[in-house]
Amino acid sequence: CGIVGGVAHQDVVPVLLQGLQRLEYRGYDSCGLAVHTASLNPTSDQGLHRTRSTARVAQLQTQIDAENLQAATGIAHTRWATHGAPSVDNAHPHFSFGPHPKEQKMPESAAHIALVHNGIIENYEVLRRELEAKNYIFTSDTDTEVVAHLIDSVYNGDLFDALKEATTRLHGAYALAVMHRDEPHRLVGARAGSPLVLGVVTGDAPAHYLASDAMALSGVTDQIIYLEEGDLVDLQAGKYWITDAQGRPLNTEQRPVQTVQ
Ligand code: GLU
Repeated sequence: CGIVGGVAHQDVVPVLLQGLQRLEYRGYDSCGLAVHTASLNPTSDQGLHRTRSTARVAQLQTQIDAENLQAATGIAHTRWATHGAPSVDNAHPHFSFGPHPKEQKMPESAAHIALVHNGIIENYEVLRRELEAKNYIFTSDTDTEVVAHLIDSVYNGDLFDALKEATTRLHGAYALAVMHRDEPHRLVGARAGSPLVLGVVTGDAPAHYLASDAMALSGVTDQIIYLEEGDLVDLQAGKYWITDAQGRPLNTEQRPVQTVQ
């Protein structure tokens, strides 16, 4: 239902939570947030970490405050379930741990991929069977989880390349925001059939944000790029890169930065 993501040089968690609050009016049945714990403090336990709730965003905030969570790279989501009941296991962000034996318990920090999704993946059943045959273990009933495992299955050291390849296999509607354990200062996204905007912050504290609605970023930035059908984005705090679905770069005239009210 709603997506917010960010990559900066300082803590993005308050921006993500505020963004979710601004998206609450759309309605949702669950919410969640994932960060890269090494993005701000490289001495902490390196890896991905998530918190999810079937209660309100205010409850998620309480959980996050209790963990004293701070990070410079993160993604957050409010879910309106289409596939799989509203539950913590079905709430986003979804993780991929890579292929592993079913009985092997994976610690959260071992996750490779964290992903949030708006929309519906029409061919998820075919993809799920294919990925299960490759020993990917599914922990939800959502259509979304296939995308996390699919990106992992084609990942070869470059998250943007993996996203580009994975999206060629997806049928349906999606706005996606994705992080990888091995690339703590990078956030990638894709848009097809579900809205997604890029928020730009320049100056002494540069940052880039993704959101399903520019309103989620109000008070953070009024500098917005409206992504179009098939667009892929590659974000770091200090730079961004937008391409079409084939990976052809799009320039600032094709995707201008607009000042929103
Ligand atoms: N189809 C996905 C799910 O049910 C995403 C729904 C949404 O856009 O919130 O988990």
